[in-house]
Amino acid sequence: MHHQTSTVSLHPVAAAATGVLTIDLGALRRNYRRLSGMVSPAIASAVVKADGYGLGAVPVSNALHDEGCRNFFVAHFSEALALRPALPADSRLFVLNGLLPGDDALCASLDIIPVLNSIDQFHQWAGAARALKRRLPAVLQFDTGMSRLGFPPEEQPALSRALTETPELEILFLMSHLASADDATSAQNESQLEEMRSILQAFPGYDLCFANSGAVFLGANYHGALARPGIALYGGQPMAGLPEPMEAVVSLDVAVVQIRTVRAGAKIGYSGTHVAEREMRLATLAAGYADGLLRSLSNQGAVYFQGVRLPITGRVSMDSIIVDVSALPEGMLGHGSLVEVIGPHQTLEDVARDAGTIAYEILTGLGQRYTRRYL
Ligand SMILES: *Cc1c(COP(=O)(O)O)cnc(C)c1O
Repeated sequence: MHHQTSTVSLHPVAAAATGVLTIDLGALRRNYRRLSGMVSPAIASAVVKADGYGLGAVPVSNALHDEGCRNFFVAHFSEALALRPALPADSRLFVLNGLLPGDDALCASLDIIPVLNSIDQFHQWAGAARALKRRLPAVLQFDTGMSRLGFPPEEQPALSRALTETPELEILFLMSHLASADDATSAQNESQLEEMRSILQAFPGYDLCFANSGAVFLGANYHGALARPGIALYGGQPMAGLPEPMEAVVSLDVAVVQIRTVRAGAKIGYSGTHVAEREMRLATLAAGYADGLLRSLSNQGAVYFQGVRLPITGRVSMDSIIVDVSALPEGMLGHGSLVEVIGPHQTLEDVARDAGTIAYEILTGLGQRYTRRYL
């Protein structure tokens, strides 16, 4: 599943910075191809919000464009402003969180497509179309049971009237978002699908945009015309117990900045939460919670060196963690050596589980201090 080795050869100065985040754009493209194939004849877009789930929205989008992807979603208008100039002109760029007051003229002039989440946003965008004497594209999001974004049921009659009076808006998709698609057994999936079906009956003739990563695996009923996977592209597992997991896209190797031997009784890390029960060899690594190694990994989880498990010992600091390297022969690890945090011996999902969180939070928290390598 993973083709990286646990050590990465790189100029020592670059490696010594913090560590190396390797992003396999080939694997990303293969994941896109797989999801596209699964939703066909529907089309797969790519959700590249939060800087492409932390992996770099620009390189990620361009690699996916090369693979045939033409529809991209970000969360915020500011993300769209940053990404639009880097996207090939034949791409459509959608903003999930909707249209903020004052953004409409810029949004229209840059060919950014808002997901309209309320009747006020609908009227704002229609006003912009009239002012510009142009038809403007939009997506309409409906709340089918998540209570987060989109037209609530009580706004549907007003929307229905507004639609008939507003030929200047070109509605590309009706959209909704599933709250529990990562759990194939959740009854909420079916109930949101039913709700969406009745909306499609009340608003006939429109295409549906519905499926996040998990929903791609829930079957064709959920695919609509345009799917919106995010995490599965990046190698996260879209639902528990998938027989064939998504291909890993990220590997993370972190640099050793100091090695020491401590006596039994030595306190390790902030607040001395770990006390050496015997003589121990410790390595301090140059990444901490500011680099996405969450503080909840304190005394939890491990890193690997040449397949040997090195437990995280004591609290995770902002810029460093301490690992127990006693299991390695002395001298094997040196200043500047790279140890595996995510790679062949430990998946993204493993790290997320040890940190008590989900792959999304690990990826989006990785931060800017690693040397990034794109394959
Ligand atoms: C983030 C997001 C997605 C992508 O979800 P994944 O679970 O990462 O596939 C799709 N649609 C909406 C509305 C989102 O907010």
